[in-house]
Amino acid sequence: MASTSASAGVLLRHVRTGRARSRADLVALTGASRNTVSARVDQLISANLLEEGGRGWSTGGRPPTLLRFNSRAGCVLAVDLGVTSVDVAVTDLSAQILGTVGHPIDIADGPGPVLAEVDRLAQQVLAEVGLTPGDVCAVGVGVPGPVEFSTGRPSHPPIMPGWHDYPVPSAFGRYDCPVYVDNDVNVMALGEMGVAGSVQDVLVVKVGTGIGCGIIVDGRVYRGAQGSAGDIGHIHVAQPDGRTVVCRCGQDNCLEAIAGGGALLRDAVAAGLPVATVREVVRLAAQGDGVALGLVRDAGRTIGTVLASLVNFFNPHRIVMTGGVAQAGVPLLAGIREAVYRRSMPLAARALEVTVSEAPDLSGRVGAALMAIEEFLDEDSVQALAR
Ligand SMILES: [Zn+2]
Repeated sequence: MASTSASAGVLLRHVRTGRARSRADLVALTGASRNTVSARVDQLISANLLEEGGRGWSTGGRPPTLLRFNSRAGCVLAVDLGVTSVDVAVTDLSAQILGTVGHPIDIADGPGPVLAEVDRLAQQVLAEVGLTPGDVCAVGVGVPGPVEFSTGRPSHPPIMPGWHDYPVPSAFGRYDCPVYVDNDVNVMALGEMGVAGSVQDVLVVKVGTGIGCGIIVDGRVYRGAQGSAGDIGHIHVAQPDGRTVVCRCGQDNCLEAIAGGGALLRDAVAAGLPVATVREVVRLAAQGDGVALGLVRDAGRTIGTVLASLVNFFNPHRIVMTGGVAQAGVPLLAGIREAVYRRSMPLAARALEVTVSEAPDLSGRVGAALMAIEEFLDEDSVQALAR
């Protein structure tokens, strides 16, 4: 176990996340010998991933040489693929965006035309920031549907006709580097965590047309046995009036059939509001329209009853709401908080924070970058680089 807990990847992670700033810190954190740590640090320095800079405070004796992660050792491509638009960013190895470009697309055009457009945008943004395909260490892609993470292939994505089983990584052949593909909710969840190194347990709940949840355990995405963890949109919800709503999955009374964006629009139209999109319902609520406010708050309460169960089961530090319906902000949160705090066990709810994403548009790109960086800088690839 000593060899894994002080592997090059682990040492790099301690420095990247700010837990260690010197060889002495690494020795103290890992319990490995000073010689072992020094040899691996030297390998990481020659691989350009660590650099030495300055002197730390001495605690008696010679002050330690400080170590820094060289986040400019390479770059990653981050692709946030939506239903109607795509954003492509180039970031450094700490997920700082160096350049970004967006373009409208129609995901239903299929993988050929859409990924050709992504390729064009990627080349454009790389050129804009003065980098070449050879500088790209890894590619991260978020797509609006379920993905088999190990192969990067979408799996029966309901709103991506023509994409089932398509090998998305094959579209990035010119970069000769690993390509990681995951569903947009998991990717956004990583983006909400921000920089690497958080060890929090967080649920990131996206309420758009559907409802999905990214599960972050100890700062990392939890995908489950088949990769479908967090698919909370199809959890059954009891209806107080005994009403039955059929979900697009064929089951009755799924959460998203009652409280998702599609349901909100349906109920708003039925209530006589002059709206054609869920965005318009959200806007009316923001303007204080009583009927729209009531519908958004009810949706929040329904989502909150499911989240209360998840809080009892998972005991997260935080819940972050994101997606188009989450833009409704206060009235949605009010409904969610009411149900969560009323129905969760006191110990689990005591320090729980429920918030709305501060940068929902950015989290897809930052998350795709973080996914690529974390996977790329894992054990094996760092080991290979530092050899
Ligand atoms: Zn369903």
